[in-house]
Amino acid sequence: MFISQSLLFEFLLFTFEFGPQSLAILHYNSTPMPSISAVLKKYQSTFHPVIKLKQGEKIAALDLSEKNVELTEDVFTNTQSFIQFIENERRKANAEFLAGGYNELRGIYSKSGLFVGEEPRRLHLGVDIWGNAGTPVYCFLGGMVHSFAFNDNEGDYGATLILLHQLDGIAFYTLYGHISLRDIDAISPGQYVSHGQEIAHFGEPRENGNWPPHLHFQVIADMELKKGDYPGVCKFSERDKYLKNCPDPNLILQITE
Ligand SMILES: [Zn+2]
Repeated sequence: MFISQSLLFEFLLFTFEFGPQSLAILHYNSTPMPSISAVLKKYQSTFHPVIKLKQGEKIAALDLSEKNVELTEDVFTNTQSFIQFIENERRKANAEFLAGGYNELRGIYSKSGLFVGEEPRRLHLGVDIWGNAGTPVYCFLGGMVHSFAFNDNEGDYGATLILLHQLDGIAFYTLYGHISLRDIDAISPGQYVSHGQEIAHFGEPRENGNWPPHLHFQVIADMELKKGDYPGVCKFSERDKYLKNCPDPNLILQITE
């Protein structure tokens, strides 16, 4: 079926106003809706790369779980040491970018009061791509700006952008954390973004929550009415709920094993 751009826009506006749950109304008499993972798999080959590699550049896997014994508390509690650690890992792997972290249990969040609690939050829900500050980030699929914010706490996302997309009538969101402040300077909710558009850049520590430069990329089914922010790390006891609401970003990125 052919859907014109204006119809698609109307559809996205409808979803934007009333949330993905409203789509159930449109599907009341049809077959069960496929999962977000299923539609992402179906359209994988059409996605624009989120990070463009120049010829000869590569992305290597990075383990930030407690299994990585080189990642000591001294390293991750000091931004400069953490930056040096990432640099060393990139050099060892002979890679411009390092990536990983979906469903990874990490000790590094003890560096910030943001993740404390009776049960601290330690399970990472996105994929992180580590590289140089200023690295451009591209829109893998057209959609619209849902919301954005400067989450300016130690260890937080810093500048954050959230987009709304739809595929085969399934609406979902993508979150871009630790980006540049200039990326959220001149945008507004409801603004259309197109396939392959340069939408963000890896931020510096002063604007990215004080982390080594990287992109936190996460897929979210239900934003739970939040704007400009959504947990990127959850309690292990809430693992099932959050992993269900946040499918594997590598279905889009197609970079990690
Ligand atoms: Zn992350």
